[in-house]
Amino acid sequence: MKTLVSAWTAARRRLEAVGIDSPVIDARLLLEAAAGATRTDIISDPHRPLSDVQVDELEALVRRRERREPISHILGVKGFWKILVRVTPDVLTPRPETETILDVVLPDWPEGQRRRVLDLGVGSGAILLAILTERPAAVGLGVDVSEAALAVARENAANLGLAGRMVLLRGDWTAGLESESFDLVVSNPPYIRGDEIVGLDPEVRDFEPRLALDGGVDGLDAYRRLAVEIPRVLKPGGRFAVEIGHDQGPSVLALFQQAGTTDVRVVRDLGDRDRVVTGLKKTLGQTSD
Ligand code: GLN
Repeated sequence: MKTLVSAWTAARRRLEAVGIDSPVIDARLLLEAAAGATRTDIISDPHRPLSDVQVDELEALVRRRERREPISHILGVKGFWKILVRVTPDVLTPRPETETILDVVLPDWPEGQRRRVLDLGVGSGAILLAILTERPAAVGLGVDVSEAALAVARENAANLGLAGRMVLLRGDWTAGLESESFDLVVSNPPYIRGDEIVGLDPEVRDFEPRLALDGGVDGLDAYRRLAVEIPRVLKPGGRFAVEIGHDQGPSVLALFQQAGTTDVRVVRDLGDRDRVVTGLKKTLGQTSD
């Protein structure tokens, strides 16, 4: 007879055997899903037996993980900032380092102040929805080239009760948007160098959308567009914050500095790696840094 603790151990060993780098946590998450158990149940009632149905379900989930399917796809959800978002293979799974964008944009924004936010390449909606959760007077527009991604973002907005403050639009970056209408622009664009894709973890390379990862030959294709387009849709004095790869700080900084923005800087993530480039659109009459 399988119990919560014996099933956890067996699943953990199998994930270890195929080289998964977080086998303890992954095995627990799969067990929780298969057995309808919480983390507390596993600790406080470790010898609770699993039903045959639960054993079969766990077997199916462990097999998927053994084939390197990401936990976020198997469970269909991922925590980001203070929210839980639905995740499918059509969107990039939100990463903890992306929360750096919130660390950058929230401090100079008084809580009750209404601001219009634009998220370019909105994907699951994680960044924009986390911002709207933190700033109840904010309204947002999320743009994505993928209709399938927009469907996920729409579902997340509805689940979080934020659909009334978020508009979603299919589009090619800022094409068709009116000028100077946003107080804040955020983006986590694709930034992996073309030749680095094959070396990514199988969870990313084989399961996450190429569209959300591939930044072209040098990884900077998206920033060349964003550096030109973001200042056009920002109000004077408005802020932008874009995620970058850890070795792209100097290049992306330079692109934005050439583009009529000011106070441009690179911000590090909790792992102490360059992760976000942020700055302001110059106000009228401001000519240089
Ligand atoms: N951080 C992601 C990764 O390394 C890439 C995300 C992106 O290209 N925007 O897998």
